[in-house]
Amino acid sequence: MDYLIDIDRVHKEYIIGEVTTKVLKGVNLKIKKGEFVSIMGHSGAGKSTLMNIIGFLDQPTSGSYKLEGINTEKLNEDELAEIRNITIGFVFQMFNLLPRVSALDNVKLPLLYAGVPEKEQNKRAKIVLEKVGLSHRINNHPSQLSGGEQQRVAIARALINNPKLILADEPTGNLDTKSSYEIMDIFCKLHKDQGHTIVMITHELDISKYSGRIVTLDDGVTLKDIRRKSIYGNKKCDT
Ligand code: ADP
Repeated sequence: MDYLIDIDRVHKEYIIGEVTTKVLKGVNLKIKKGEFVSIMGHSGAGKSTLMNIIGFLDQPTSGSYKLEGINTEKLNEDELAEIRNITIGFVFQMFNLLPRVSALDNVKLPLLYAGVPEKEQNKRAKIVLEKVGLSHRINNHPSQLSGGEQQRVAIARALINNPKLILADEPTGNLDTKSSYEIMDIFCKLHKDQGHTIVMITHELDISKYSGRIVTLDDGVTLKDIRRKSIYGNKKCDT
């Protein structure tokens, strides 16, 4: 079986001075292309650490992580960065937008770094902003947008390279209930209609129910891994 994400007995520890903190203690997690997975667990359980490893922002102390069958252990920093830019789109709780530039310019940023011509940057940025329902706000700066709209800009930015994998760390953690559901509707559409693989950390049970699989971490190990019919308003958010 080919997995997009294949994590095998991953351990992660941090050493500060004489203190060693064991955060992940042998996590196994296999995720197929096209799955929508929530990662839950109490604060300090190791969710963000696991997400950082999945997103190449950190590396395991031991164990193996294969992305699309490629053993990440053997890659150097440049190779990791290149694969990360092409394959993974990140969405964070605090949106992480540049405050002084427009929604359009925020979304274009990854293309600017990749050296894509400006005309092409604009075209692609407008397409992804339309996907998240923000065509009418492209010239607004983040401070002129609601929290939900800012998160939609962040999702558009994550989509700009058409990544195979979207990693979302508490994407609704800073939003009111209505905006949270609007953001989840967008994730559902990306998953259901466009086949994106989504891995999302959340501590909110109602938000996790949008995904078809809920993995619960506890004290650095996988406590539960449950597949269920997801919800999407009254509709299903399943492929
Ligand atoms: P969660 O996302 O589930 O709240 P985290 O993965 O953020 O948990 O953190 C798990 C544990 O690892 C916490 O006790 C945290 O203090 C510790 N930790 C996380 N990152 C570091 C780091 N860079 N250095 C030292 N300890 C860390």
